[in-house]
Amino acid sequence: MNEMFSSYTIGTYKRFPLAFVKGEGAKLWDSEGKEYIDFLSGISVCNIGHCHPKLVEAIQKQAGLLLHTSNLFHILPQEKLAERLYNLTGMLSFFCNSGAEANEAAIKLARAYGKAKGRYKIISALNSFHGRTFGALSATGQKKYQEKFQPLLPGFSYALFNDLSSFASLMDDETCAVILEPVQGEGGIHPATKEFLQGIYKLCRERDILLILDEVQTGLGRCGTMFCYQLYDVVPDIITLAKSLGGGIPIGAMLAKPEVAKAFAPGDHASTFGGNFLATTAALAVLDIIEEEKLCERAQVIGNFFKEKLEELKKIFPCIREIRGIGMMLAVELDSPIAREVVSRALEKGLIINATSDYVIRFLPPLVIKQEEIEKGISILKEVLNELL
Ligand SMILES: *Cc1c(COP(=O)(O)O)cnc(C)c1O
Repeated sequence: MNEMFSSYTIGTYKRFPLAFVKGEGAKLWDSEGKEYIDFLSGISVCNIGHCHPKLVEAIQKQAGLLLHTSNLFHILPQEKLAERLYNLTGMLSFFCNSGAEANEAAIKLARAYGKAKGRYKIISALNSFHGRTFGALSATGQKKYQEKFQPLLPGFSYALFNDLSSFASLMDDETCAVILEPVQGEGGIHPATKEFLQGIYKLCRERDILLILDEVQTGLGRCGTMFCYQLYDVVPDIITLAKSLGGGIPIGAMLAKPEVAKAFAPGDHASTFGGNFLATTAALAVLDIIEEEKLCERAQVIGNFFKEKLEELKKIFPCIREIRGIGMMLAVELDSPIAREVVSRALEKGLIINATSDYVIRFLPPLVIKQEEIEKGISILKEVLNELL
C-alpha cells in the first residue's frame, strides 16, 4: 500500500496509508473515493468544517487581489482582524503563522516585560504541549518531546497540572510568567479545574507574574465559548491562538493586554508572513462564520449530545475507564493499551479519530457536524470496540 506514496519528505511523521482529496463539512473523501466522517478536524483546525463556502469565497477573492506585501506597510485585513480580536478580548494582537510561533512570541514578550525587574523564569505544566520550536519545546512539560534536543532554553520549570501548591512552590522573584493550556490537548484532554485556574490567576496577580493561556487548541468555539478561559472567570495577560483561526490557512496570533504589549518596541519581534492578506482574510471569514452560525453555542449543545453518546458506550464497554472534556473537545480513556488499534480500525470503517497515547482516544469534530454524523461515527466506534473485546 505504501508504494503508492512518495518518500521524499523527511521522516518526521508516521502517516496512515491514505490521502484525502476532498472535504465538505464533517466529511472527507480519500483518493479511492471512499467517504469518511471526521471526528478530528485536522486536529482542531477545521472548526467550521471543510471547505465552508464563505471561507472558500473569501480566500478566492483575496487571492485575486493581493497576497503579500510585508509588514513594512499597513495590511488592512490584518488591522481589521486585530480590531475584531480586541473587541472580543480587550487585547492587542501580533500575528505569526503557527501555534509554536505564537508561543515563541509570548515567551519573548514575557521576558521583555520582566526584564526591568530581573524576571525571566517561566513555569509550565507537566504533560503540557506548546509546540516544537526551541522556546515552545522548552515550555512543553513532556520528556519524550525534549529528550533528543537537550539542552533547551534555560529558565523553565514544570509543575503538576491542577495542583496549585506545586505551581506556588516554583514561583519566585525571578518568575515572569506561567503558561498553561486551559484544557491539555496533546496531553490527553485534561481540563483545568476552576479552583486551579482561578487560584493560578490570583497567585499571578499577587506576585506580578504574567498568566499566558495557550488557547491554540481550545480556542474559537471548541469548548463552547469563543475562548476557553471565558468558562473560568479569569483574565489572562497573554493568549496564544493558531489552529482554528485560519480554518486551514496557516495563521497564529499572540494577544496581549495593552499594558503588557508595551514591552515590545519596533524591531523587538517580527514575522515576514505574519498576518498577511490571505491569512487574515481567512481568519476574518472564520470569525464571521463562528458568530453567524452560533458555533460556540452549537459546540455546547452538540458537545453534550456527543458526551451522552460516549456515556452510553461506557455503560456497554467496561474497558472505557473515563470520559473527559469540555464542549467539542472530548476524550475516552481505556483501561488497556488499544487506543491506536481502535484508531486504525475506525479509519478502515470510515471514521477519523486520533489517539493521544496508547490509552486515550481524542475527539475534536468540526463544530458544524450533524447529529446523524455523530451517531454514525459512534456506531462505528461501537463496532470496533466490539471486535476488539
Ligand atoms: C498544536 C498546539 C501547539 C502548536 O501549534 P503548531 O501550529 O503545530 O506550532 C501549541 N499549543 C497547543 C496547545 C497545541 O495544541
